[in-house]
Amino acid sequence: MKRPLDGGPAGDDPTFAGAEVEPDSTDPHDRPPVAEDDPQLEPVGIDTHCHLFLIEGDPGDVVASARAAGVGRLVCVGIDPESSRRSAELAQSFRGVFATAGVHPHTASEFDRPAGAVIEELLADRLVVGVGETGLDYYRRLSPVEDQQRAFRTHIALSRETGKPLVVHVREAWEDALAILDAEGADRVVLHCFSGDAAIAREARARGYFVSFAANVTYPNATQLLQAAAEIGPDHLLAETDSPCLPPRSLRGRPNSPANLPSVAEALAEARGVTSEETLRSTAEAARAVFEFHR
Ligand SMILES: [Zn+2]
Ligand SMILES: [Zn+2]
Repeated sequence: MKRPLDGGPAGDDPTFAGAEVEPDSTDPHDRPPVAEDDPQLEPVGIDTHCHLFLIEGDPGDVVASARAAGVGRLVCVGIDPESSRRSAELAQSFRGVFATAGVHPHTASEFDRPAGAVIEELLADRLVVGVGETGLDYYRRLSPVEDQQRAFRTHIALSRETGKPLVVHVREAWEDALAILDAEGADRVVLHCFSGDAAIAREARARGYFVSFAANVTYPNATQLLQAAAEIGPDHLLAETDSPCLPPRSLRGRPNSPANLPSVAEALAEARGVTSEETLRSTAEAARAVFEFHR
């Protein structure tokens, strides 16, 4: 007797009997409950790097679109004292938004004592979950290398003092960046918008760094990047949009937003031979492991 449902309200539906064994892939109990938030209401994806203050339009709408696209949390990354303060305010205003405080390598020359004092003050806020973005950009070199290195070292010290992870931007400066991270004893490190090759990814893995990939993994020339992604275990692999920069391939020429995170997950998933859903979930787990999302 395979179908004992004849006569019942669903008796004419032969699929009904299978309902109880249908896999429920969205079961929130698969995940540990998060802080004081209700995990049942939380879309799974986490965008670990965006600049909400640079995205046009109402930030509330941007956050709502992200939620509708399955992205429940986003880390709004500061690039100078003013935008770091703005990020902290946005975190205060919108559920699911968290901030970081720091000075971008592009403007490292402006990282003086007063700027440092603002960053330090903001880091006392529990919604400010990371230090940065900081790092080295020898590609654009908008600040002299010595200023970039000095600011980078100070950010590493702040990360060590506060225990908050360091959000690191590196472009064409891998040798120096890895040397400084090592010399200064950086221990909670997120390499954002990763642009290195497989060998650098292996070094990052050996050091226990978290490695975050942006939507350039969707571009046609992403082969080397995807090989690098394959070197990182799921527990240290993060996904970000870096919005409004770097829109995914399908949206090139238009501004990017956190709602596009699933495109990044999809490209990573394809290269790693897993599903997009699994990637969205594992990158969110890794994000929770490195950032402390208290509300
Ligand atoms: Zn960056
Ligand atoms: Zn950025």
